[in-house]
Amino acid sequence: MNLFVHDLSLYIHVPFCFDKCDYCDFFSIPHHGRPDNRLLDREFHLIESMGSRWLRLLQCRNLETIYIGGGTPSSIGLDRLERLLSIIAGLIKKEGIAFEGEYTIEANPRDISPDLITLLESYKVNRLSLGLQSLNDQDLRAIGRSGSRAQSLNALSVLSSRWKGRFSLDIIAGIPGQKSESIDEIVETAVESGADHLSIYQLTIEEGTPLARKIAQGLRRAPQDEDYLRLFKHAVETAEKAGFKRYEVSAFARKGCESRHNLRYWYLRPYLGLGSGAVSTLPLADGGALRFCTGKGRYMKEILSPKQRFTEALMTGFRLVAGVAESMISGTGIPDHPFRLIGKTITDYQNRGLLFMRNGRMGLTHQGLDLLDRFLLDCLVELDTTWPENRS
Ligand code: SF4
Repeated sequence: MNLFVHDLSLYIHVPFCFDKCDYCDFFSIPHHGRPDNRLLDREFHLIESMGSRWLRLLQCRNLETIYIGGGTPSSIGLDRLERLLSIIAGLIKKEGIAFEGEYTIEANPRDISPDLITLLESYKVNRLSLGLQSLNDQDLRAIGRSGSRAQSLNALSVLSSRWKGRFSLDIIAGIPGQKSESIDEIVETAVESGADHLSIYQLTIEEGTPLARKIAQGLRRAPQDEDYLRLFKHAVETAEKAGFKRYEVSAFARKGCESRHNLRYWYLRPYLGLGSGAVSTLPLADGGALRFCTGKGRYMKEILSPKQRFTEALMTGFRLVAGVAESMISGTGIPDHPFRLIGKTITDYQNRGLLFMRNGRMGLTHQGLDLLDRFLLDCLVELDTTWPENRS
C-alpha cells in the first residue's frame, strides 16, 4: 500500500462525558464524576500504543494540528487529563516530531477553572472548543442536556479573564421553543468574552436516542425545519454583524481565527485518529485513501477508491464559503479536470446564480449553500453516469 502522507494532523478521542445528553448518539460513556480507572487505563494505553506505531510507520516529522475531542475530554478530572496530555507530549518527543501548530481541546462549561487553564497552558494547548449549546436553561432542559446558564456564564468569565489562547463556542439552533433572542444573547456574550469562533449546529434527532423516544411518546416537542431555518438565518446575520465571518456552512470566525484543524478535514488533508472510535484517513498515491477506526475492541479498515475520495472532496469542499479548487484532489486514479465530471450540474447552478467561479475556485453562493444537500445529490447523480464504478 502506497501511503502518501506529507503532512499530518492528530485527533485524540476521549470517550467519556459527565453524563449523556438526550440527543447524543456519539460513542461516549457517562461517568457521573470520575471515569472508571480500568476503562481509562485501557483508553490511554490504546492512544499511546497506536500513536507510537503509526507515527513511526508514517515517518511523521511534523504535526500540523492536534485536536482532543470526545466525549468531553475536560470532564475526566485534572490529574487524568494531565496524564493524557503528557502521553501526547511523550509521543511527540519520542518520535522526534516538530509541533508548533493549533492545539485544541473540547471542554464543557462545567469544567472550566483557573486550574484547568494553568494545566492546558503548561502543555501548550492554545485553543478551546466550549460546548455551550445554549445560555437558556429551558433550551437545555428541552434537549436533555445538563448544565446551566450560570455555569456557562461563569466559564466565560474565567476564560475572558484568564485564558490567553483562542476559543470557540458550540451553539445549537432549532431547539423547540428557542427564541431568536437566545441566539442574540449568545452572540453578544461571545463578543464580550472574547470568543473568536462560533459553530452553529442544527438539532437533529438521531434514532435510538432518549430524545427520539421522548418525542415518540409525546413527552417532548419535535424540532421543525422551518424553525431551524429561521433561527439559523437569524444567527448568520447576527454573527456576521458582530464580526464573525461565515467560512463554512456552520462555522464562523473572526479574521484569521478559522479552525485550522477542521479546515484540514474539509480540504481532505491526512489525519490520524487515536482512541476508541477515532477515525483515521490517510491518502494513497492513486488518489484513494486508507480509512480505519478502532472502536470498542474492533478494528475496521476500508480502502476508498479515487472516485469515493473525489465524492468526499465534493461533499466537504462545497461546504466552504470560499469554495473548492480542483487541485485539492489529485492522484493517478483521478481524471484530469475532475470537475468536468459534474459539468452539467455546475452549469445549471451557475445559471441560477447559486454557484460562483473565482480565482480557480468554485463554490456555492450564500443562497446556494441553503441548497447544499440538493446540489450534492445532483452532483452524485451526474457522477454516476460520467464516472461509472468500474472506472474507479
Ligand atoms: S457532551 Fe457531547 S459527547 Fe457528551 S453526551 Fe453530550 S453531546 Fe454527547
